[in-house]
Amino acid sequence: MSRLVVVSNRVTAVTDKKAKAGGLAVALQDALQEHGGVWFGWSGKVSPNPSSTPEKKQVGTVTYATIDLSRKLYNEYYSGFANRTLWPLFHYRLDLTAFSKQNYSGYQQVNTLFASKLLPLLEDDDLIWVHDYHLMPLGDELRKAGVTRPIGFFLHTPFPAMEILTALPSHKTLVKALCAYDVIGFQTENDLRAFLDYIVHEAGGGIMGNHLVHVFGRTIRVEIFPIGIDTEDIVKTARQTMRSGRKLRSKDMPGEREWIIGVDRLDYSKGLVDRFHSFQRLLETYAAYRGRVTFMQIAPPSRSEVPEYKEIRHELEAQAGHINGRFAEYDWVPINYLNKSFTRKELVGFYQASRIGLVTPLRDGMNLVAKEYVASQNPQDPGVLVLSRFAGAARELDTALIVNPFDYDAVAEAIAKGLDMPLEERRERWAAMMEVLRHNTLGVWRDNFLDVLSNCPYDS
Ligand code: UDP
Repeated sequence: MSRLVVVSNRVTAVTDKKAKAGGLAVALQDALQEHGGVWFGWSGKVSPNPSSTPEKKQVGTVTYATIDLSRKLYNEYYSGFANRTLWPLFHYRLDLTAFSKQNYSGYQQVNTLFASKLLPLLEDDDLIWVHDYHLMPLGDELRKAGVTRPIGFFLHTPFPAMEILTALPSHKTLVKALCAYDVIGFQTENDLRAFLDYIVHEAGGGIMGNHLVHVFGRTIRVEIFPIGIDTEDIVKTARQTMRSGRKLRSKDMPGEREWIIGVDRLDYSKGLVDRFHSFQRLLETYAAYRGRVTFMQIAPPSRSEVPEYKEIRHELEAQAGHINGRFAEYDWVPINYLNKSFTRKELVGFYQASRIGLVTPLRDGMNLVAKEYVASQNPQDPGVLVLSRFAGAARELDTALIVNPFDYDAVAEAIAKGLDMPLEERRERWAAMMEVLRHNTLGVWRDNFLDVLSNCPYDS
């Protein structure tokens, strides 16, 4: 295979500690090391005078190349267009979507800047794989700079329905630029369908079959690649946890109670406010669970500079306080709400000790926590996943208890059903989900995408 060039908003240099980096970083790192390559993106640093050349770090056969951004571009591109326009829009939150010409211009400028800084690092045969909504116009910018090699793009978020997307003033320019890629990957059938709908009904393109579409004078390949997890790695950690499990359970999760766990970045797309309402509904409707179940919600803050994220944080603190104030007893607190992050290993322990994994986003590209919860279970005594129909993962994990997160009564009922579910049913549902997770791992996802990209007969 050719050399691989990965481009993403942020770059994660993987040194030796697998556990320290996220799953995606490890998966891409494996492919980069194998074929040699470059990972290019923003350093995560804001600088008054960004250097004109990328900072490079060599690890084995991989070059990590990063650039800093000026405060102005950071505000317009990252906090602005990416996180106050595209993110809410792509998660169906038109009410939170802020449109600003200036932010859009900053977004474009960063994509142009990325292309110009990446260009000198490219070699003729490179396979170029660009990630996520921050970089939709990057392929087009590289084309303008003369790159003719195949360029692939994977969208980690949902792709919104046409009626939502067309609310974006620059929707046509953005989708046209997106179509400069040769392969566009989506998480689910839904996202692909929404994209095709736009291509046919808004862009005047045509579906040619065989995963190909013709639009804006180009033929591109569009396909579903649901992202997976490193299942075996989590199973291995889970086994180690089981061996020392009693310790973890009594040290970190005291008492004989059943635990319900939620793990999400503090983000409005994760449906945390509605989830708290549903838990409250459980305590109201099923009084027998009072004192018997505790809901642990882990929610590390993210994007704190964006006003909507500050607001949701305040709202959740008030809600947790309200529910605890109303229901707590001297020896029991219903919600254990933690605004901090934990390592993957710690999470595996928490997942395993929890009878219910509560994953109820209002909209989510995939949701890896749902998959990690399942992979962390004790096969002899697995917990139950309560999963939103609006998470991409619901397509694959269809033996979870699938819920509508807006329906508090139904979510409360599903939690109650999960808490009382007989062992045999829990095992059956869990085994079916594990089969999917063992089959479609993170490595399979990566290899499938790269396979399609490296075989694509590109036209430029
Ligand atoms: N995660 C973590 N520590 C935490 C909370 C989350 O390592 O305290 C990890 C979690 O294990 C998962 C990822 O962050 O792999 C979140 O991915 P997901 O797809 O669920 O949501 P995203 O944050 O990408 O929207």
